[in-house]
Amino acid sequence: MQHGFIANQHRFPPRESNKQQAFKEFEASELFCPQCNRAVPVRKRLLLVLPEGDKYEYLCAFCATSVGTKLVRGANDQMHIII
Ligand SMILES: [Zn+2]
Repeated sequence: MQHGFIANQHRFPPRESNKQQAFKEFEASELFCPQCNRAVPVRKRLLLVLPEGDKYEYLCAFCATSVGTKLVRGANDQMHIII
């Protein structure tokens, strides 16, 4: 059975400032990126959901190279992503 959810894409002018809030999870502010050869701002991305916690990957904000991972114990179970 399919849920007929279709997100109609209206052509909004790029005025919404809400979009920036999607990336407010900057915990580790800067990490060293071997590609850029310098410390770079990173993006946190959920990589794996393990029984002992969630594994996050840190990606370089410029070239998207993985610059590190981090295991977050299930402290905040606000988000439950069931795959
Ligand atoms: Zn980089």
